[in-house]
Amino acid sequence: MQHSDQSGKQQSSQAPGSLAERAVAAGVAFTKDVAAARALRSPEGVEALRLSYLGRKGQVTALLEDLRTCSKEDRPAAGKAVNVLKQSIEREIEALKGEAGAWLVAAKLAATPLDIHLPVEPWVPQGSLHPVTLIRREILGEFRRMGFTVYDGPEIDYDFYNFSSLNMPADHPARDMQDTFYISEQEHLLLRTHTSNIQIHCLLNEKPPLRIVAPGRVFRVDSDPTHTPMFHQVEAFVIDRGITFAHMKGTIDAFMKAVFGSSMKTRLRPSFFPFVEPGAELDLQCVHCSGKGCRLCKQTGWLEVGGCGMIHPNVFEAVDYDSDAYTGFAFGFGIDRMAMLKYKLDDLRTLFEGSHDFLGHFPIFT
Ligand SMILES: [Zn+2]
Repeated sequence: MQHSDQSGKQQSSQAPGSLAERAVAAGVAFTKDVAAARALRSPEGVEALRLSYLGRKGQVTALLEDLRTCSKEDRPAAGKAVNVLKQSIEREIEALKGEAGAWLVAAKLAATPLDIHLPVEPWVPQGSLHPVTLIRREILGEFRRMGFTVYDGPEIDYDFYNFSSLNMPADHPARDMQDTFYISEQEHLLLRTHTSNIQIHCLLNEKPPLRIVAPGRVFRVDSDPTHTPMFHQVEAFVIDRGITFAHMKGTIDAFMKAVFGSSMKTRLRPSFFPFVEPGAELDLQCVHCSGKGCRLCKQTGWLEVGGCGMIHPNVFEAVDYDSDAYTGFAFGFGIDRMAMLKYKLDDLRTLFEGSHDFLGHFPIFT
């Protein structure tokens, strides 16, 4: 037999107890559900939780509907309980929504670990240093170790610095030996034919004692397998009281040994250059046959690499130095020629053709 309520009051069929008690029970259940949602860290779980309490068929919505059928005396307490519950659930759901954003980020980071590396590119050519740059750096490095200072000068210069101050006056036959690119004959401007112009600039600007190395580009009207219109020279000079030919020979020998190895031999042969007296050709033992004789050295065992000598008194006089007080030596050679010998190259022109295949053999750094 079905139980009938004798009081005649309508009671909710969904749950026993008063509305206020059901609100408290719903609050307790909600607290458990929130803990479960936090443990799962699921944004979808938060939404499901919201629907199950605040949705159209949610528990709080059902309690609110039941308020309408609640007795008048119960209604104030029940209404207050349900509203407090609703507000606290709303606040908690909002807080959970905020946390859910952080859960999403954390989940993404955990799923695909952040890779801070740049994507690996397939190997691409990195370029390399030109052999002339490599040998120039090495040459200047050795001179610095010997206490020399690097000095620079202009590539376009006046006749005075390139010729006349170097004991080559206007009618000197030595000028015919060097076919010169003149820029303006009236203004006596030209492309320097050697780095010796730097010597004059330095002598005019500095005071002895001087220990200078001067590298740079030089220009001559010349083009064949062993000559290019532009090439690189380096010149070293020392000026002080009491400098002798022996100092020069020792410096040249030490320098060549530093660049080509301790077994390298050098040789000086008497020769003429207008700006030195006495002057000498500077020969290096053949790097291909070590002095035994081969095609490169024409079976002599020696290779001519540059010139040297004691600075001519006329050069000192051109720059107002006391040639009785000071003496000095100078020697110079082609940087390109040194690169050919050091890296065993056959043709000077390969240095200036810009072929990637050729230049790629040289390192990027030194
Ligand atoms: Zn040889």
